[in-house]
Amino acid sequence: DEAIHSNAWCVHYRPELEAKYVRRLTITTELKRALASNQSELSMVYQPKIDLSTMKVCSMEALIRWNNETLGFVPPDEFITIAEQAGLIEQVTTWVMQRTIADLSYFRQKGYGFTVAMNLSTQDIQNKPLLDKLVSILTDAALSPDALELEITESDLVADASLAIENLNALTSRGFHFAIDDFGTGYSSLAYLKNLPVDTIKIDKSFILSLATDDNDKQIVHTVLGLATAFDLKVVAEGVEDEMSLNILKEWGCDIAQGYFISRPLAKDALEEWLENSPLGE
Ligand code: C2E
Ligand code: MG
Ligand code: MG
Ligand code: MG
Repeated sequence: DEAIHSNAWCVHYRPELEAKYVRRLTITTELKRALASNQSELSMVYQPKIDLSTMKVCSMEALIRWNNETLGFVPPDEFITIAEQAGLIEQVTTWVMQRTIADLSYFRQKGYGFTVAMNLSTQDIQNKPLLDKLVSILTDAALSPDALELEITESDLVADASLAIENLNALTSRGFHFAIDDFGTGYSSLAYLKNLPVDTIKIDKSFILSLATDDNDKQIVHTVLGLATAFDLKVVAEGVEDEMSLNILKEWGCDIAQGYFISRPLAKDALEEWLENSPLGE
C-alpha cells in the first residue's frame, strides 16, 4: 500500500514495507477472529496506582493483553492502532468494558474501594452508542460512574474536538471522570485543558522513567506539577521505575504514582494476591 502510493510508476521492492503490511494484515485477520470466537486470547491486566500522600493503592489502570497462537504476544499500542484503522475498535472496547467492570465488581464485593481507570481511544469518545453502552454495563453491575476513570490522550481532543467534547461533557454531568493520558507528548497546554471536563493529567512516562537522573525531565516535571496545582488538576505520574523518582514526585506534591517500582500490571488473581500481601495494598 505505502510502496504503491509513494511511487506509482516505478514500485521499488521494499521488503520492510512488505513485512509491515503482512503483519498488519495478519493482526487484522487474527483480531477479527479472536473477537468473533470465544475471545480467550484476550485478557485484562491491572496496574496499581498509589496515592502518594497515604502510600496506599487508590486505583488500577486496566490494560488489555492479546496472546495469539500465530503472532504470540502483540503489544496493545500496536494492535489498538490497527483495530482503529480496521473498524474493530468498538468491539475491542466493548470487550474491555465488560471484562473490566466485571472484575471491578468482583473486587468491590471483596470489600476493596479502589477505582479502575480504563483507556478509551479517539474513536470511542466520538461513539455515542458505545458510551451509552458503558453507562448501561455500569448500571447493570450496580456501580456508580465514580468507580471508573476514563483515560484519553491529548491528541484525541485536539484532533476532532467538538463531538468528543460534547460526549465528554455529557458523561461528566452523569458523574464520570476523565484523565488526560500521556500528557506532554501532544500540543495542548494546561490552560487549554482547563476548559475541558478533565480533572486529572497523567504525565507521560517518557518524562518519568529517568526522572532521578535527568535534569531536563526534572525541570519539565517540576513545572508541570506547579502549573497543575495552579489549574487545580490532579496529577498522576506513570512509569515510576525506581525509589528515587518516587521520592522526588512525593516531595514535589505529585498526587498519584504508577510504575514498575510499585507493581507491574497484574492479572486478576495475581492482583488479588498483591492486594493481600503488599504493604501498599488497601
Ligand atoms: P498507557 O495508557 O499510557 O498505559 C501505560 C503503559 O505504560 C502500559 O503499557 C504500562 O504497562 C506501561 N508502564 C507502566 N509502568 C511502567 C514503567 O514503570 N516502565 C515502563 N517502561 N512502562 C510502564 P501497555 O500495557 O503496553 O499499553 C500501552 C498502551 O496501549 C497504553 O498506554 C494505551 O495507550 C494502550 N492500551 C492498553 N490497553 C488498552 C485498552 O484496553 N484500550 C485502549 N484503547 N488502549 C489500551
Ligand atoms: Mg492509560
Ligand atoms: Mg500513558
Ligand atoms: Mg499511551
